[in-house]
Amino acid sequence: MSEINDPADPSGIEEMLADLALQLERAKSLTTETIAREIVRIGFRCQRCGDCCRGEENSVALFPFEIRAIMVAAGGEGWLDVAEPPLEGEWDSEGNFHTLEWRLRKEGRDCKYYSKEGCRIYGARPLICKTYPFYLEEGRLRWSECRGLGGEIGPKEAQKIAELLKKRQIVEIREAIDLVRKYEDFERGDPSFHGKCVVHDSEGEHKIEWSEISGALGRRFQQFQK
Ligand code: SF4
Repeated sequence: MSEINDPADPSGIEEMLADLALQLERAKSLTTETIAREIVRIGFRCQRCGDCCRGEENSVALFPFEIRAIMVAAGGEGWLDVAEPPLEGEWDSEGNFHTLEWRLRKEGRDCKYYSKEGCRIYGARPLICKTYPFYLEEGRLRWSECRGLGGEIGPKEAQKIAELLKKRQIVEIREAIDLVRKYEDFERGDPSFHGKCVVHDSEGEHKIEWSEISGALGRRFQQFQK
């Protein structure tokens, strides 16, 4: 996190914002037709295996606007019913744990919205789920391991994925810009659970009491208390 904001080097922040602004312009100018043709060439047909929703490796990053959409889709769930802070972070000198962005809540090893019948929040699932297994890296199409790769996909469906990929890239960069602008740095300290958990995102800081946090980070807190 020290990479985001170093008060001793304000020009570093300006450089970071200038770079993100450049990335944003590049993302806006991406041609979805080219990406769609590439998707047709690679091939993809979802096998409804649920592999991308389950297991230790399953970790879905999501943004505040996505959390709010899921809160509604899930029938009025609360913020911390939908999302949890990631495990990685740093401590400040007052015993607060600082971390970046949010992860979709898991139940055990699986996404809490996974069921054998499929995703229980399908229409409101995060962009990362809507575009899996594809993602863009500096404008280039990449893909993760998936049983559906190589399957038959029509141009219309591929075009839809390509447009979502472009949208996701733009959203990710805009969120990063807001995160960098709002991030406030802190004096580093030793691990302690006397303070709060502070999640930094594009909206600023969310300060959460440890007693409100479940998931992997909550379990770490409970172990520390024993
Ligand atoms: S939100 Fe839906 S699609 Fe995304 S990981 Fe969870 S169950 Fe799977």
